[in-house]
Amino acid sequence: MTAQLIDGNALSRQLRAEVSQRVANLKARGITPGLAVILVGDDPASQVYVRNKVKACEDTGIHSVLEKYESSLSEAALLARVQALNHDPTIHGILVQLPLPAHIDAHKVIEAISPAKDVDGFHVASAGALMVGQPGFWPCTPYGCIKMLESIGYDLKGKHAVVIGRSNIVGKPMALMLLQRDATVTICHSRTADLKALTLQADVIVAAVGKRHVLTADMVKPGAVVLDVGMNRNDEGKLCGDVDFEGVRQVAGWITPVPGGVGPMTITMLMVNTLESAERSTG
Ligand code: NAP
Repeated sequence: MTAQLIDGNALSRQLRAEVSQRVANLKARGITPGLAVILVGDDPASQVYVRNKVKACEDTGIHSVLEKYESSLSEAALLARVQALNHDPTIHGILVQLPLPAHIDAHKVIEAISPAKDVDGFHVASAGALMVGQPGFWPCTPYGCIKMLESIGYDLKGKHAVVIGRSNIVGKPMALMLLQRDATVTICHSRTADLKALTLQADVIVAAVGKRHVLTADMVKPGAVVLDVGMNRNDEGKLCGDVDFEGVRQVAGWITPVPGGVGPMTITMLMVNTLESAERSTG
């Protein structure tokens, strides 16, 4: 079997076109969705992520404000900026790019963002809303994975999903979203005793670890859906995921590539969340 590709670029284009249309509808009613992106310091990867987010805003008609600060910015000054943006009616989403410099408590900063503008979905209130099935913002990366499953018409009901990784921004919210769609979910992590025994039972596997070749062909049930969240560099310095793509695609039914899979979907879902925040602000 050769797996079919779930193309994150193509799906992103389609979803961003829908976002653009809804943004235009809101603008016609006098509301322009606005996203504030705060970058502290000069981490090269963060600069690329932030640039891509601002570009996606431009492409979809969302107003963006990029605030860049020296790494010496104090925690108090950053908290004050977040508070000001919480009260700014032209801003519907606030994103503080992580990681922050060591002297700033990232948790404190995230918790300072109004849950109504927490378009990254990292606030404890957003996590709690997801946990109990109430409306709130879903973290963009796992939300993008759900959209990818929807795009192939995959019904999760009664399926066994294995999530590898238990971070607060990917693994745990991913597991909750799959559970909400009636999958039976297993969460694996670095202390899982026999990963292969579990992945071999899975109808859906989400790899969110940050290590190459965590998932190889011998660990995958024929026909399974494999979503690769990982972002790593191979020996040639090229971007690759957690999944041994060439091997696993011979066994899986569906697979996401890296690059061109989950990555673009993450930014697309940030646009969706920002748009929805603006729509909610109209009541
Ligand atoms: P993280 O916070 O470092 O979490 C990694 C998780 O993997 C942890 O739960 C860890 O277990 C688990 N793990 C480590 N080694 C393992 C192993 N050998 N077997 C099974 N589980 C193992 O990372 P993250 O923030 O969730 O990100 C994961 C990956 O996704 C990274 O490559 C990141 O760059 C990428 N990512 C991509 C996007 C995107 O847009 N495509 C967005 C976010 C993240 P413990 O909890 O036991 O330590």
